[in-house]
Amino acid sequence: MSETKLSCVACGASYPLWELRYSCSCEGLLEVTQASSSKLGLPELFEKRLMSRKVWDRSGVWRFREGLFPLSETSYVSMPEGQTGYYEVPGLTRWAGVEHLAFKHEGENPSGSFKDRGMCAAVTAAKKLGVTTLACASTGNTSSSLAAYAARAGLKAFVFLPAGKVSAGKMAQTLAYGAKVLAVKGDFDDAMQIVRSLAQAGRVYMVNSLNPFRIEGQKTIIWELLQDRNWEAPDWILVPGGNLGNTSAFGKAIEEAYQWGWIQKKPRLATIQAMGASPFFRSYERGFQSLEPMQAETVATAIRIGHPVNFTRAVKAIEKTRGVVAAVSDAEIMAAKAAIDRSGLGCEPASAASLAGLKQLVAASIIRPEEDVVAILTGHVLKDTDAIMQSQDLSCYDVDADRASIEAVLDRLS
Ligand SMILES: *Cc1c(COP(=O)(O)O)cnc(C)c1O
Ligand SMILES: [Zn+2]
Repeated sequence: MSETKLSCVACGASYPLWELRYSCSCEGLLEVTQASSSKLGLPELFEKRLMSRKVWDRSGVWRFREGLFPLSETSYVSMPEGQTGYYEVPGLTRWAGVEHLAFKHEGENPSGSFKDRGMCAAVTAAKKLGVTTLACASTGNTSSSLAAYAARAGLKAFVFLPAGKVSAGKMAQTLAYGAKVLAVKGDFDDAMQIVRSLAQAGRVYMVNSLNPFRIEGQKTIIWELLQDRNWEAPDWILVPGGNLGNTSAFGKAIEEAYQWGWIQKKPRLATIQAMGASPFFRSYERGFQSLEPMQAETVATAIRIGHPVNFTRAVKAIEKTRGVVAAVSDAEIMAAKAAIDRSGLGCEPASAASLAGLKQLVAASIIRPEEDVVAILTGHVLKDTDAIMQSQDLSCYDVDADRASIEAVLDRLS
């Protein structure tokens, strides 16, 4: 039986799992490769765990631990994350122009975004590695998540944010959990560069999605949605793409679930970018020959990234799932967001890219109306309230505390 180890995505070289490194000596990205012991029959075990009262069994990440990396019951960190809702919304299904659509709402995680699934894994790995100072560059959600999980694990967190480009809610949340916030005069890509060099120099342990353990945790978005569907794979899974950690994790999760016999067919992956931050889409259009970084600008700040660090892993994910990449305008994103918000689910702008992308791909006949589709909502509606107040032309009615005049207002609004 071979061991679980770190392997290079580019050259295939391998390293011990618990060696502290972020990349191969050839500079390639690393991923966790699983021991070859049988993974057959695990879905039945995952099902039984739903009845357990132990966090270790119920967490939407650690429930799937045999498919992640070896770990003892005393060493994991959890809140417990995952266990997010799986929703069918007839109004939105019609809006998108398909017959079968469901949403997996990752905004229901403890800190309000899917980042918690990767972060609980990365912080657990940090404890195992014995590091005490964690850091990330972030557009706001990774920082909130790191701040929360570092506090939970009793570790120190430094977060590097693009100054003036992070929503008030995400900033407040990160500060409240006790992380030290450095507002970098530059964009996300500048902040990312700085964290990478600090990590290379050994000053901090980096928990951006370059970190292979982040990817392992985020695979469980796919596995949990497959479990929600009784391990019946959908035809398509749509996800917003920024730094492309999720795209990479999804490709790996789909491939493994298929190889291990948990599903009988592979869903196709569709990564949706914002037009103003679409280097992956542009590369896809040129057959992934190269990645040309761009200056990113979009209302969807969580995906306002011009130089995605997971590019090579994400290319593999799209190729192995016969996937596609699309780009949508800010107007399309905000229209999809308004529809999601009005359905009662609600989400932040970046999340709505998945529904906007679905509508576009159906119109382009790439996704057929009768196909079975799951769209991932990545973040909670409260993550970016400014975007709502600025774009949806919503306001409250100011009234006097007087019954008669209020009844007049009710008459007018009824
Ligand atoms: C981080 C984030 C994304 C982008 O995910 P990547 O893995 O960087 O592609 C999308 N939506 C939200 C809400 C996020 O926080
Ligand atoms: Zn290598």
